[in-house]
Amino acid sequence: MQRDSLKAWQESSHFAGANAAYIEELYEAYLDDPSSVAEEWQAIFAELPSNGTVTDVAHGRIRDYFREVALDSNRSKKTTADPELSEKQVRVLQLINAYRFRGHQAAALDPLGLWQRPPVPELDPGHHGLTSDDMGRQFNTGSYAYGGETLTLKELVSSLQQTYCGHIGAEYMHITSTREKRWIQQRLESVLGKANYTSEEKQRLLSGLNAAEGLEKYLGAKFPGAKRFSLEGGDAMVPMMRELIYRAGDQGAKEVVVGMAHRGRLNMLVNILGKKPGDLFDEFAGKHDEALGSGDVKYHQGFSSDFATPGGNVHLALAFNPSHLEIVAPVVIGSVRARMDRRKCETGKLVMPITIHGDSAIAGQGVVQETLNMSQTRGFQVGGAIRVVINNQVGFTTSNPADTRSTEYCTDIAKMVQAPVFHVNADDPEAVAFVAQLAVDYRYEFGRDVFIDLICYRRHGHNEADEPSATQPLMYKKIKKHPTPRKIYAERLIEQKVMSAEEVTEQINTYRDLLERGDCVVPEWRVMTEHSVDWTPFLDHDWTAAYDSQVPLEKLQALGQALTDFPEEHKLHSRVNKIYKDREAMVAGEKALDWGMAEILAYATLLDDGYRVRLTGQDSGRGTFFHRHAVLHNQENATTYMPLRHLSEQQAPIEIYDSVLSEAAVLAFEYGYATAEPAGLTLWEAQFGDFANGAQVVIDQFLSSGEQKWGRLCGLTMLLPHGYEGQGPEHSSARLERFLQLCANHNMQVCVPTTPAQVYHMIRRQTLRPMRRPLVVMSPKSLLRHPLAVSGLEELANGTFQNVIGEVDELDPTQVDRVVFCSGKVYFDLLEKRRREELTNVALIRIEQLYPFPADEMAKVLADYQHVTDFVWCQEEPQNQGAWYCSQHHFWQALPPRGQLSYAGREASAAPAVGYVSVHTKQQQALVNDALNLK
Ligand code: AMP
Repeated sequence: MQRDSLKAWQESSHFAGANAAYIEELYEAYLDDPSSVAEEWQAIFAELPSNGTVTDVAHGRIRDYFREVALDSNRSKKTTADPELSEKQVRVLQLINAYRFRGHQAAALDPLGLWQRPPVPELDPGHHGLTSDDMGRQFNTGSYAYGGETLTLKELVSSLQQTYCGHIGAEYMHITSTREKRWIQQRLESVLGKANYTSEEKQRLLSGLNAAEGLEKYLGAKFPGAKRFSLEGGDAMVPMMRELIYRAGDQGAKEVVVGMAHRGRLNMLVNILGKKPGDLFDEFAGKHDEALGSGDVKYHQGFSSDFATPGGNVHLALAFNPSHLEIVAPVVIGSVRARMDRRKCETGKLVMPITIHGDSAIAGQGVVQETLNMSQTRGFQVGGAIRVVINNQVGFTTSNPADTRSTEYCTDIAKMVQAPVFHVNADDPEAVAFVAQLAVDYRYEFGRDVFIDLICYRRHGHNEADEPSATQPLMYKKIKKHPTPRKIYAERLIEQKVMSAEEVTEQINTYRDLLERGDCVVPEWRVMTEHSVDWTPFLDHDWTAAYDSQVPLEKLQALGQALTDFPEEHKLHSRVNKIYKDREAMVAGEKALDWGMAEILAYATLLDDGYRVRLTGQDSGRGTFFHRHAVLHNQENATTYMPLRHLSEQQAPIEIYDSVLSEAAVLAFEYGYATAEPAGLTLWEAQFGDFANGAQVVIDQFLSSGEQKWGRLCGLTMLLPHGYEGQGPEHSSARLERFLQLCANHNMQVCVPTTPAQVYHMIRRQTLRPMRRPLVVMSPKSLLRHPLAVSGLEELANGTFQNVIGEVDELDPTQVDRVVFCSGKVYFDLLEKRRREELTNVALIRIEQLYPFPADEMAKVLADYQHVTDFVWCQEEPQNQGAWYCSQHHFWQALPPRGQLSYAGREASAAPAVGYVSVHTKQQQALVNDALNLK
């Protein structure tokens, strides 16, 4: 805006009304970031009295001040009614703002009182030029939410101290939304950062601390030295969890899903989820249920129960988790999204996630950033998560912040999504309860993440066998003398006459008696009725479980037509249009089906049968290799259209989302989704197969072992593009060997489909068969368009997934003296070469499912070749990779008695593939020739 027009606009009658508020907004934006407002405004605002601190929006008199300054074209002669007062008024507002921004740096957050933080000069009125003479003067307090329009400076400073520098350190001024900031200010400032709890509520808080301490002391006495990752020091977690759940119940939540690390987990299980202490004691004593696979340690166990709140029962699910502390957070979020989808809840109001983090881990682990980055995206948002840090100020043995992080607080990552952070002194359970309620309300109001930094300490070492004084001598000297949170609060309540000393002792004894009895100690515990999914139909099936896969040809044609139909005004890119024209021809039977068409037909049949489908990955809508085009982009207005969503009125929902550029958090999310939703199909696609490396923790610790450790089934499908096409070391291999090496106990399936019909049947089998186990697919790249990798519609209508595909050419088996086994794309290289060379003595057998190894089908295929002694396994991968080492024993077992097995493939190599196309081609020709016994 030009200065003249700006002036004219300001002089208009609107200025004093709504526009003054507009100027305030501008001023606030300017204070956050001067360059965010027009230069003219920068010049005006720059002339306001300032002392270098960040200042706040102005109201009342300051509006006039703005007006006069802004209207005055001759800056040197500006006049106000009372210049001194106006200037002081601005400084008062700057002081308020200083507390809002930096009060947390002076708050009493460390229960041990060991923090040494530099003083914050901006919190001193003198720093703003306000003197003791001003203390009795009334000032306008602008947007400050405490008191009336004006306060004396003395009242103001005292209230600011109480609100911002007590046991709560509120960090929220990094949020750009004024509405959010105002909301938080209203909640904090109007009550001076303190709730007024009734005696009953106070007793409830104390009972939480009593339970937390009581359990740990009991376990410590009964099982001395046993690892339990005691909560002691962070006892406030128990009353905090209760308040979070109560508040979520009030807000209408039906389910709360919790993810947490080791510390305090036993307390969470017994004192919140209602696990029977007797069962826990049995586990300490080494007893376990034989039916539960190989199991896991106590402090990784999940649990489910219902919890009664005044707002209704809330189902609680604590996720099982491995020792990788932070990876469970995206799993929880995925689980929440699945539950939301099941309840047809788009806002997240019915299901609330709570993820509990360690202070070192939240700052140290990249998956936290990945998870936050997903938090507002379409495919992954859940209406916000409550993120709690149990900040015991030590990471195993490392406590010096200079070693654990480069940020002021461990929670600084929250700022990337503008989440508010409430640091709270865990020795003050009322402050903890206050921020718990505030956090839940914020989540429900704004649908975004919010952090609680529960600042506590660790009474014992990393675990109970550890000696913490060796590395934290001063801290532990202090801790030894520091009273427990229960004791501190009990004394406070006795002093306030809320309870008598006898009542406190009785509370301790009653809890201990409950523990002795071994029954549930949570009064709110209820038998589960709130969770709405039944896993029983999916239990106890193996991969051979029967299912009905037939879809009549006419149905496939009708679905195919629907899939190629889109509104006329939705203008496709010419290349996509060509693909859709080809698809029409495929449906009409004029063209063989390609991979993309078979794959989306599989989804269409499932949707038509009422199975929901969810597919995410970095380029899932289009497909990395331009083959899927499930999401059509209008070239004229960039709108999208998904034919899979327009099959029929009754069809099941489908979601296809391009994901954020992350593997770990996204795969963990999808694992969480699939472990919470057995109905339907959940797929994750890697852009290139080797990108799955970035999610190795999820593959090792959840997907491959979750069922055995925790009895948690998961039908997730991973599509991992794999194939040696000369694209270099990074884009050739999905590291098949890694998956095969993880295979045991039929824990997952590893498939390498080679035809469109196979991918169609594989996808349907994964959904229709009642077994729910991960499916790892080496999916193709060049095969997507290979002239030989095509199928007829009848193969879809009549066939089923073939775990092994025998010879397809009409060879005379008696003439065959060599049988080559292979998987994946190399098959077509072998076939083409054999046809070119007109060899009739080599049979080619494709193993389409490498694990579980299909021994029976292999035996059938080999029945014609019992006379053969020369068997070859041919692979594209180097010898130390691919299936050779991991699956060889299965191949050997399949051979006829005199059969010998040899290897044709690349030599062992440190890198998965070479970088030069010419070398690649030479190697590829050599291994094909070798397999076919050609020189
Ligand atoms: P949740 O809603 O996660 O608390 O689960 C409720 C109940 O469903 C659990 O207690 C289990 O019995 C069962 N369940 C949940 N998830 C799975 C799973 N992935 N595999 C097998 N059973 C499950």
